Amino acid sequence: MDQLLYTIIALLAASVGSVSLSGSLLLLSNKWLGKVSSYLLYLAGGTLLGSAMLGLIPEAAESLPLTEALAWVLGGILFFFLLEKVILWRMCHDENCERQVHAAAPMIIIGDAVHNAIDGVVIAASFLTSTELGIFVTLSVLLHEIPQELGDFGILIKSGYPRKKALMYNLLSGSSALVAGVAAYFLLDTLEAFIPYALTIAAASFMYVAMADLIPEMHKETKPKESLIQLLLILAGVALIAMAVSGHSHAGHVH
Ligand SMILES: [Zn+2]
Repeated sequence: MDQLLYTIIALLAASVGSVSLSGSLLLLSNKWLGKVSSYLLYLAGGTLLGSAMLGLIPEAAESLPLTEALAWVLGGILFFFLLEKVILWRMCHDENCERQVHAAAPMIIIGDAVHNAIDGVVIAASFLTSTELGIFVTLSVLLHEIPQELGDFGILIKSGYPRKKALMYNLLSGSSALVAGVAAYFLLDTLEAFIPYALTIAAASFMYVAMADLIPEMHKETKPKESLIQLLLILAGVALIAMAVSGHSHAGHVH
């Protein structure tokens, strides 16, 4: 029962919490907003990769043969490639459409709602595995959601949405994490055999977000100083997860 409570708190932090945090960051001056948002993104690159490879995959491999777990991760990466492709197809009607530039605001909201729902399932599956895994997975979600939502605010406001409305839409798309997460919690609690598979898909989602979304974004920045900051914050993110993982490696598991 405690796990359900933790899961709901984590889902609220990841959805309402990250939207309100990013909403309050909007009060910063543009210069600071850009800095904070970039640094969170770099840190998220590290925590996502660390959570996937130091936390989620090893957990899954405790219940599945490693080769099978990795095959599911591979399948998951291909699935997320296709999912993103479909979302891009739905957003673009001309040939040289770049995401974010010509993307219609409603598709941004729907695309995010799908992504947030997946994050919600990831959080539920991690808390069903152990509280510690749940906590650092939630941290990884929070860290990448804040810069993501700041970006969405920017797009919505540029497309003419008033701030209040942009905030409402972000909350709406964030709430999909709560709904999907609670549903996944009950489903996975009854069908425990699915949990290790859910963890492999979660790992694939984290790796995909880090390597296909965040890292290409980081490479737009080529100045040596900023590149060094990127490297250091990625390493800090990995170190954060590594410490959390080594701290709990022998803690009791719920299931
Ligand atoms: Zn996310």
